[in-house]
Amino acid sequence: SQSKPTLELDPSVKVVVRIRPTSDNGVIGDRTVKKVSSDTLSVGDRQFNFDSVFDSNTSQEDIFQSVGVPLVRDALAGYNTSILSYGQSGSGKTYTMWGPPSAMFEEPSAHSHKGIVPRLFQMLFSELEKEQRMSEGKQFNYQCRCCFLEIYNEQVGDLLDPTQRNLEMKDDSKNALYIENLTEEYVTSYDDVTQILIKGLSSRKVGATTLNSKSSRSHIIFTLVIESWCKGTSINGFSSSKSSRISLIDLAGQDKNKVDGAGRQCLKESKNVKKSLSQLGHLVDALTKENCLGKAEIPNRNSCLTRLLSESLGGNAKLSVICSITPDNKNNGETLCTLRFGQRVR
Ligand code: ADP
Ligand code: MG
Repeated sequence: SQSKPTLELDPSVKVVVRIRPTSDNGVIGDRTVKKVSSDTLSVGDRQFNFDSVFDSNTSQEDIFQSVGVPLVRDALAGYNTSILSYGQSGSGKTYTMWGPPSAMFEEPSAHSHKGIVPRLFQMLFSELEKEQRMSEGKQFNYQCRCCFLEIYNEQVGDLLDPTQRNLEMKDDSKNALYIENLTEEYVTSYDDVTQILIKGLSSRKVGATTLNSKSSRSHIIFTLVIESWCKGTSINGFSSSKSSRISLIDLAGQDKNKVDGAGRQCLKESKNVKKSLSQLGHLVDALTKENCLGKAEIPNRNSCLTRLLSESLGGNAKLSVICSITPDNKNNGETLCTLRFGQRVR
């Protein structure tokens, strides 16, 4: 039985930058963040190269074409694929990933704001359904299951069952990581996935209103596993199968420590976020650059985020990182941090 494509040593990483429209209420100063060409941007006299740079005129569809379409193709080919949405709070990470709920509810006026995630699932299920229609003789079939979790202060919470706030990560007998009691839902259509996305995202939002902008200090990860098989394709009647995982990660804000307002709790959260983002950088670094000997020393035991992601990013994996930045000069410090992260993992 055939499974994954030939093993590659390192995952391929694609890094794009999106500059959001200004939030300076129309005050147009001399902006230091500028798109220079399709893959270059400058901050003052410093230049940065990425796979693509998108300025504030970019549509959700443009981002989907650049990052979403290749992801769906790779996922259907059997690769594990991931998108990381990285940037400071308010830079557009969540907007780029999911878009507003009204867009997921298919309200016509919000259609153009639909995020990359609902767009890619629309394409994924349409491709799977097409393949099923076209291959009646071969009995192509598929099964998808998904889960949606939140990492907040080094605790794993279940976004599909908000009563579960501190789930345990465990290794099974084959050394694969699993999260005890995490809800798993089977889905067969785009509509099924949309329902789950809306449910999970609204659980995150409940937290945001009770705990002062908690959402900017939590990472959320939506995972969908696709298993597909074709019966009777080989001479002896064995079926061939493929399995791949799509991981969609909306990270906590890459922000300065917030000591104001919420006080101590807030500082602790900020420190946890900083620590996990920096370990994420180490992880991607290790996976992409240090494994010329075939195996990387993976620093995945240290934080929930890296421990979870090392499963998705290791081996036959394709990763896209979307770095979100604002054009506002007052954010230059944070913008440079985000761009440095992007350069580092590229
Ligand atoms: P983050 O998740 O990085 O904290 P959000 O995605 O919540 O940021 O964006 C902050 C605000 O800016 C939201 O109201 C969002 O709708 C808006 N926004 C972000 N990016 C864009 C964009 N490219 N076009 C229009 N509005 C945007
Ligand atoms: Mg957000």
